[in-house]
Amino acid sequence: MSLDDFEPVIGLEIHVQLATHAKAFSPSGIEFGAPPNSLTDPTVLGLPGALPVFNAAALQCALALGVATGSQIRARSRFSRKHYFYPDQPKGYQISQFDEPLCEHGHLDVLLGNTVKRVELQRIHLEEDAGKNMHVGSVSHVDLNRAGIPLVEVVTAPVITSADEAAEFMRSLHRLVRWLGISEADMERGHLRCDANVSVRRKGEDRLGTRTELKNINSFKFVQAAIEHEITRQVRIVDGGGRIERETRLWDANAGQSAPLRSKEEANDYRYFPDPDLPPLVVEGRVMAEVLRMLPELPVPRFQRYTQELGLAADDAKTLVGERALADYFDAALAAHPVKTSARTLANWILTELLGALNAAGVEIAASPMTPETVSALVVLVETGAISGKIGKEIFEESYRTGEAPKTIVERRGVTQISDEATLVPLIEQVIIANPKQVEGYRGGKESLFSFFVGQVMKATQGRANPVVTAELLKARLKG
Ligand code: ADP
Ligand code: MG
Repeated sequence: MSLDDFEPVIGLEIHVQLATHAKAFSPSGIEFGAPPNSLTDPTVLGLPGALPVFNAAALQCALALGVATGSQIRARSRFSRKHYFYPDQPKGYQISQFDEPLCEHGHLDVLLGNTVKRVELQRIHLEEDAGKNMHVGSVSHVDLNRAGIPLVEVVTAPVITSADEAAEFMRSLHRLVRWLGISEADMERGHLRCDANVSVRRKGEDRLGTRTELKNINSFKFVQAAIEHEITRQVRIVDGGGRIERETRLWDANAGQSAPLRSKEEANDYRYFPDPDLPPLVVEGRVMAEVLRMLPELPVPRFQRYTQELGLAADDAKTLVGERALADYFDAALAAHPVKTSARTLANWILTELLGALNAAGVEIAASPMTPETVSALVVLVETGAISGKIGKEIFEESYRTGEAPKTIVERRGVTQISDEATLVPLIEQVIIANPKQVEGYRGGKESLFSFFVGQVMKATQGRANPVVTAELLKARLKG
């Protein structure tokens, strides 16, 4: 068997919990870890006579994602009932969107190394979450706190071609929803859950193979592992002359394998029909205008601006756009920075010194004790040669710790860099006189001794000598 003869095709369905204060169709609050069944109401419980009222905050969130993915947005969409019987769903149906979803035909751009892959989206629709069943020994418990929490479901076209790409897609969506502020996207709390549809076909074949669906994967790592495993499993079956069953499988991360859960139900098993209790979902012009007004510059365009306009290295640009707060911090520092050619230097200081200090202290960038303006001021001191890079790091450390302005620290410590020849030349001459053996060696061809002389001058100035000027002066004098 050879994996190389086959081509995997993957389509993802990702559920994202929206960051609203109340549930999708009723006023109960949302709080992770609250006592079981404390966040319910007649609508969530499906009591007769209770009517759903749609929470408009969830619409704002879904629209922001729709716009950010270039989707076509339906001015008038509707909610449908998707029926299935399960204890975590007391109504006997889930409110979702079926034939008229809010968004269609969008796309999400994914950064793969230095290139951008555009993944087409079939749809993004609104729905409510189900509750949770918990099985303890022979007893099952039902907690309905999660029931009714608003979700969007993002469905990709079958265009993802590897497990790596699928994991990158999930990371990109995770970053985007956080960037837009529409979800906390806390993976540990199940705010972002993925169903992966996987099929394989022989290379050159245009028809898609039969797919299986891996349910409810809640980490980037598991998505990758589960898909890789599924591709290998399917290739082995097809290559051996077998047929893939259309089924839903469950990934067991501990065992590193999947097992069948059920054969796949078809849409008509769900008996979808428009929910008669809810009016059509109408997107008013003023709501749309507000969503557009609030839309930030997105991660991928920002990555492109950083690499193409500012000349940042792709890795650095990718780290900066990893989180909106970090990219915003960098942009604020850049705006404060008078030296317009040095975006790279500024990025370096932020990515190494600042992130290093923040990580060591376990502090988020948004809570950085050092402002973007302060970082810029420090970098200016180094760039203009007022202090050396090495001393810059010490000043950084003190400014980070005390909040004092870099310039004040430099003045108090008396560590300005010495660049003027009048001061440096006598020092250099002393070093030459004091080390006749090394001078002889250097002049005899041992060029590696040069750093020894630079070191001596640095020692004599407590590291304050400008290394470039020092090297020039030393070279001239060592020639003889
Ligand atoms: P459902 O899962 O509800 O039946 P769809 O038929 O619309 O819904 O498909 C859902 C997902 O399955 C989409 O992400 C789509 O890209 C993906 N998909 C469909 N056919 C295949 C296939 N042959 N191989 C891999 N993914 C597929
Ligand atoms: Mg599905």
